[in-house]
Amino acid sequence: MNGCIAVINAGSSSIKFAIYEDETALFRGRVEGIGASPRLRVADAAGAAIIDESLPAEGLDHGAATRRLLETAVALIDGRSVLAVGHRVVHGGVNYAAPVRVDRQVLADLAELTPLAPLHQPHNLASIAAIAEAAPHIPQVACFDTAFHRGQPDVAQSFALPRKFADAGVRRYGFHGLSYEYIASRLPEVAPALAAGRVIVAHLGNGASLCAIQSGRSMASTMGFTAVDGLVMGTRCGTIDPGVLIYLMDVYGMDARALETLIYRQSGLLGVSGVSSDMRTLHASAEPAAAEAVALFVYRIVREAGSLAAALGGVDGVVFTAGIGENDPTVRSAVAAGCGWLGLELDEARNRGGEARISSDASRVAAWVIPTDEERMVARHTEAVLGLVDAGPKAS
Ligand code: AMP
Repeated sequence: MNGCIAVINAGSSSIKFAIYEDETALFRGRVEGIGASPRLRVADAAGAAIIDESLPAEGLDHGAATRRLLETAVALIDGRSVLAVGHRVVHGGVNYAAPVRVDRQVLADLAELTPLAPLHQPHNLASIAAIAEAAPHIPQVACFDTAFHRGQPDVAQSFALPRKFADAGVRRYGFHGLSYEYIASRLPEVAPALAAGRVIVAHLGNGASLCAIQSGRSMASTMGFTAVDGLVMGTRCGTIDPGVLIYLMDVYGMDARALETLIYRQSGLLGVSGVSSDMRTLHASAEPAAAEAVALFVYRIVREAGSLAAALGGVDGVVFTAGIGENDPTVRSAVAAGCGWLGLELDEARNRGGEARISSDASRVAAWVIPTDEERMVARHTEAVLGLVDAGPKAS
């Protein structure tokens, strides 16, 4: 491939980016603090910081930050060309079940899905629009966090609501699909015995979910219509009795926007602890509420793992990934203890020693830590959609 692929992963207040040449990430970086005190950080392939500077906050919305990243990318690759830009897009709805090259119609269709992901979709689309304007000659590919789950059995995608709502798109979509797809693509190489088996993948980061995977395909997931469902997250509450929301409307006079702020931004680890949304801070805190928040986080994972084990009819392996899953042996240990009844037993020396396989030799269920890489998955899809390389499966 004669040139580079830029990958953009736009979140609510930050935009991550990476530049790939073939399968190698030459640079990774992010603009953080959009809307407050923006900062641009870029590291080279070895992880060494090469840019770390604050950006003027004035006028730096997602579009402007994206243009800045594109300029940075072009400067960094020094004469080589950006062949394409791939985007992580949170929602593809019912119709976009695979990555797609973006044109005006695609952009219009994706804009219509904004009410399904109001906190993420507009930022994703702002990044695409910014590049279309600044560099219309560069092809762009949208890769959806929902797509990996579109093949789930119908029953796993359904709510028990009158059918007309399902027909209008009110169904369980599931998210973190690019992360799960990447993990599924790694299994044949890392843990070949699991690749054709029943695996629960725990993506435990600031956003958190579980996915039941069988033979590399998504069978069920804890996130549903939105990315607020399922597990306790940094600031999201996870599964909640819908009656609570009606009660809060009736008794506290909360409207839709107030509830949105409550369940997306003020709940989860932050809301329960009153201390922080960050797992490291909670571990370091002496506040009893911090420990209670961690205990609830673990409890909900264990409960949902049981549900996914039932959906799979048994479990052969568990994979931990994302910030907490990859780096927090204490949480992994507590989750494994709660899943002991499934036949999962960790080897604590392996768990604390940074090994990839962390289950004991006697454990009936294998446990692995596999770092996720959503950007690499987007780069692969982008190459494949545009026919830049052979679209066949790749190991990394
Ligand atoms: P992510 O959204 O995947 O970047 O993950 C962010 C979460 O990972 C935050 O709650 C961090 O506190 C947590 N995290 C990152 N590193 C560690 C670590 N070494 N130990 C515990 N939690 C960590």
